Amino acid sequence: MNHFLSKIKGGLSGFFSFIADERCLGCGRESGFICKNCYSKITFNKNFCCYCAYPLPDSIEKSICGSCLNSKPLFSKTVAPFIYEGIVREILLSAKFSGNYYYYERLINQFWDEFENLLKAFFDAEVIVPVPLSRKRLIERGYNQAGLIAKYLSKKLNKPVILSALSKTIETKPQSQLGERERHSNIKNAFCLKKTINFSKIIIVDDIITTSATVSEVTKVLKKGGVNEVYIFSLCRAVF
Ligand SMILES: [Zn+2]
Ligand SMILES: [Zn+2]
Repeated sequence: MNHFLSKIKGGLSGFFSFIADERCLGCGRESGFICKNCYSKITFNKNFCCYCAYPLPDSIEKSICGSCLNSKPLFSKTVAPFIYEGIVREILLSAKFSGNYYYYERLINQFWDEFENLLKAFFDAEVIVPVPLSRKRLIERGYNQAGLIAKYLSKKLNKPVILSALSKTIETKPQSQLGERERHSNIKNAFCLKKTINFSKIIIVDDIITTSATVSEVTKVLKKGGVNEVYIFSLCRAVF
């Protein structure tokens, strides 16, 4: 519990210091969350696979990546506005592991115009559901990063969020430490539905997508529970 309180305390002191004297997280010199110059260095995911948001070369006018052509995912669409690199990667690592959880809201606010445009593809979704953390990881970290992103998105999109729809019942190895094939077997059957979901179209939220193994597994559980259509929103797309 002390660990959790210190995380909250760290987050709050960071929050108040940014109100008093916010410096750009990229360069540390200019004012604002991300200054104009650092903004221009961010890589947006502009041309991507309509299923899994894997970035595709601008010159290629196809909308499905090789992997999804080979095996069509259970979910319908993915939106992941940033490529996981540079300043955005640093911000997400700090938000997830250093208690700076308020960065998620700052990021969503600063880039809302871009996000909103991409999220038009999810206009008919009825509810937002975050990817859950295991109980052990939640106690260690003090918060579920996907839950926070889902809450801010819910405010912006004016759609309800169900924070406790799913649970992660198996303690898995961190996906970031594994290769592509291992990620699928690592996460297999790790989630279960905690309550009946009376919605047909759902947005699943996560912070980073790499192989889509986690969101595929969550989609499987939701579809078994009667959900018809699943969309995925992730802040970042990592390139595997
Ligand atoms: Zn800067
Ligand atoms: Zn794809």
